[in-house]
Amino acid sequence: MPSTTLASLTTLRLGGPAEHVLTISTPADWADAVRAIRHTNEQAPVVLGHGSNVIASDAGHPGTVVVMNTRGITATRVDDTTVNVTVQAGHPLTELTAWAAAEHLAGIECLAGIPGTVGAAPVQNAGAYGQQISDTLDHLTVWDWETDRMRTLPAEACQLQHRNSLFKTNPGRWTILAVTFHLIRSPAAPVVYQPLADELGVHIGTRPPVAEATSAVLANRHRRGLLLDAHGPDARQAGSVFLNPPVTTTQAAHWSTAGCPVHADSDGQLRASAGWLLEHVGYSPGHQVADGIRCSGQRALTLTAHDEATATGFAQALGELSARVESTTSIRLHPEPVLVGIWQ
Ligand SMILES: Cc1cc2nc3c(=O)[nH]c(=O)nc-3n(C[C@H](O)[C@H](O)[C@H](O)COP(=O)(O)OP(=O)(O)OC[C@H]3O[C@@H](n4cnc5c(N)ncnc54)[C@H](O)[C@@H]3O)c2cc1C
Repeated sequence: MPSTTLASLTTLRLGGPAEHVLTISTPADWADAVRAIRHTNEQAPVVLGHGSNVIASDAGHPGTVVVMNTRGITATRVDDTTVNVTVQAGHPLTELTAWAAAEHLAGIECLAGIPGTVGAAPVQNAGAYGQQISDTLDHLTVWDWETDRMRTLPAEACQLQHRNSLFKTNPGRWTILAVTFHLIRSPAAPVVYQPLADELGVHIGTRPPVAEATSAVLANRHRRGLLLDAHGPDARQAGSVFLNPPVTTTQAAHWSTAGCPVHADSDGQLRASAGWLLEHVGYSPGHQVADGIRCSGQRALTLTAHDEATATGFAQALGELSARVESTTSIRLHPEPVLVGIWQ
């Protein structure tokens, strides 16, 4: 029987065979999955949601890949304004933000349009427009592969930082089964990001209705090529390939004078725009980087795969881009997507 490829489980559509694939469709499937994985003597599986933030190796994965496909949202009233919302890990994040907008629940409206599952979102503390998962995360229900038991991890235990967490620094140890947020019945969080304020036609600090903020985020993402269009020319991508790099105050002063957007992240760290730096050193939207690998039609920071692309070629292209930025600017770029499978 032909094996499932990692390519078929990821948005870049790259990657070789996976030895076993287990799809978790309901929470009740979990106990059987653990038994099956223990039967193979593996320490832990590779876990995927929608595969929108991974580069899977051409050699594939010689073990089990778990695909989280569980769905469901449960809301529990805490007080007149706060609602605890528990979401199964495989639930699409975009469906959750649409549900929250319809329920007038604020706190995750700026995450609208981020592809992928709710269970993957804490892994890199997903965020956009000045809002991130850590703003509203209450706790996670996880499976701990080291102790073989279910645990509740409060948000404070998850080491959530700018696009980073305990789960990114210790890959494999925990599988996130459900995510609980505390959302507030109120207007949206104050707008902190100028393009979003412009989209809404309001000043920074305004608190629009949640549904308006959600629609404006989606419209702005569409305009900037930040939505995943599965049928468009840039369908095969994993979003931004580099994080905005941390810079010193001296570098920040120098590069912002040159025109590079620099902002402080939620931890107060100054970060330069990785997209601006790539354009500064000669990569522009549509640029052909290597065989089958191009910058997307709208952004240098998104690399797209085409017919003859390989995961190895994609990873080499990232190396080429970051080397050129570092040799010109002395700023080092770090990849955002996670490598999955066997990389030599
Ligand atoms: C067009 C586009 C735009 C994007 N925009 C943004 C953005 O604005 N902000 C942002 O933060 N990200 C963005 N991303 C990246 C990506 O959408 C997010 O990182 C998203 O949270 C990944 O979800 P996923 O289900 O696809 O995860 P996957 O790609 O399947 O997995 C990502 C990582 O999480 C791990 N993982 C997945 N599920 C679980 C689980 N249940 N338990 C434990 N580990 C798990 C995987 O092993 C892997 O290491 C974008 C991507 C694309 C393609």
